[in-house]
Amino acid sequence: MNEFGGMSNDELRDLYRELILDHARKPRHFGKLESATHSAEGINPLCGDKLRLYLQVDAAGNIRDAAFEGSGCAISVASASLLTDSIIGLHERDALAKFEDVTSSLTASAGDVQRSIKLGKLRALEGVRQFPARVKCATLAWHALRSAINQQATPARTE
Ligand code: ZN
Repeated sequence: MNEFGGMSNDELRDLYRELILDHARKPRHFGKLESATHSAEGINPLCGDKLRLYLQVDAAGNIRDAAFEGSGCAISVASASLLTDSIIGLHERDALAKFEDVTSSLTASAGDVQRSIKLGKLRALEGVRQFPARVKCATLAWHALRSAINQQATPARTE
């Protein structure tokens, strides 16, 4: 049972499209995070998406706050917005597990429902699976997340 239990696939698709557009138009947690302890840049040369992700991580490894800035296509911005929303409050370890879930879900063959169920509203991103070039837009912020947590100095690039 997921949070959208009982809805048809068509209804879900419309809902997800709305969700993506909403986050692209009104990105959550957009801007520089002055209290950041971690940050990483993500670059997707294929589309021209470029963003920087900021994390404020406490001594116990919990992500207290997150934000991003930069510019890119609607998918990359919506994905970064959904990312910040979904990782605040998580332990770094759990955020990395979410990275695995999202990236493997977006690159998996259709029908890998087991992954999907865990994603909640991040399932909205799964629509891009039909557009291989867009997968990199959707996963960019997630690669930046992994780089930030691992404190990598070089930008996360999709190419
Ligand atoms: Zn893009």
